Amino acid sequence: MLKNTIVIKIGTASITAPKTGVDLLAINNLARTAAELKSQRHRVMIVSSGAMSLGIKKLALESNSHSDNSSFKQALTAVGQVDLMNAYENIFQYYGYHVGQVLTTHQGLEDQSRYESIHNTLENLFELDVIPVINANDPVTPSEIDYGDNDCLSAKIAVLAKANYLVLVTDSGALYDSDPRENPDAKLISKVTEINDEILAMAGTSSSNVGMGGMKSKIEAAQICLEKGIKTLITGKANIEKLPESNFELESLEALGTLFY
Ligand code: GLU
Repeated sequence: MLKNTIVIKIGTASITAPKTGVDLLAINNLARTAAELKSQRHRVMIVSSGAMSLGIKKLALESNSHSDNSSFKQALTAVGQVDLMNAYENIFQYYGYHVGQVLTTHQGLEDQSRYESIHNTLENLFELDVIPVINANDPVTPSEIDYGDNDCLSAKIAVLAKANYLVLVTDSGALYDSDPRENPDAKLISKVTEINDEILAMAGTSSSNVGMGGMKSKIEAAQICLEKGIKTLITGKANIEKLPESNFELESLEALGTLFY
């Protein structure tokens, strides 16, 4: 019998590496974990960022050369998405799975017929035992790359797929009561049962250097999920492989980062 549906969202900082472009080890750990979760009869889908960063790397551009030009950024995602999916397919195949690329937009998820279409595609991918790898379709939506972030996109996908868990993999690894990059005494928050002003203040406006999201959008994503009874875990890439052994017990998940439920 099917156990849980788990959406794992991995951010740019966790999926890319300065020298190799794609962080092959991170994708390898993700693939091994996904295969293990599937063998435990969970459904797994991945939301992956990284396209823009890989596009910049591939074309050997300066990392800030694109900062003010949204259509230029969209073109870079078109280039990097190819490398991203190549890495996923090559590595997941080693663990016995093919991946299916699903590109969507926030707007697309608000439109009933497209919503149904994505839903049906995901269902059929599961039937085919293929692991969906989803990203924002940045090149087709004029403003997507400015307002879109994969944190909220992954929450909307979790709702659409009636997931039980959303796992947000991020470089900070958890929510802290202050920014751990600035305050070495920052305290890790292991569980959140209500997103109140105090929690929102902790998230601040923090953002990572390479992705679109940051902690604020992760809290927004957790809020979308909380409203639908979906648990959200914010964790780091070193903990991805601990998911199967956690058996999705609350205490074990709390030990991996911050759990919202
Ligand atoms: N879709 C963007 C990319 O693949 C990332 C968006 C985000 O960081 O949330 O580069």
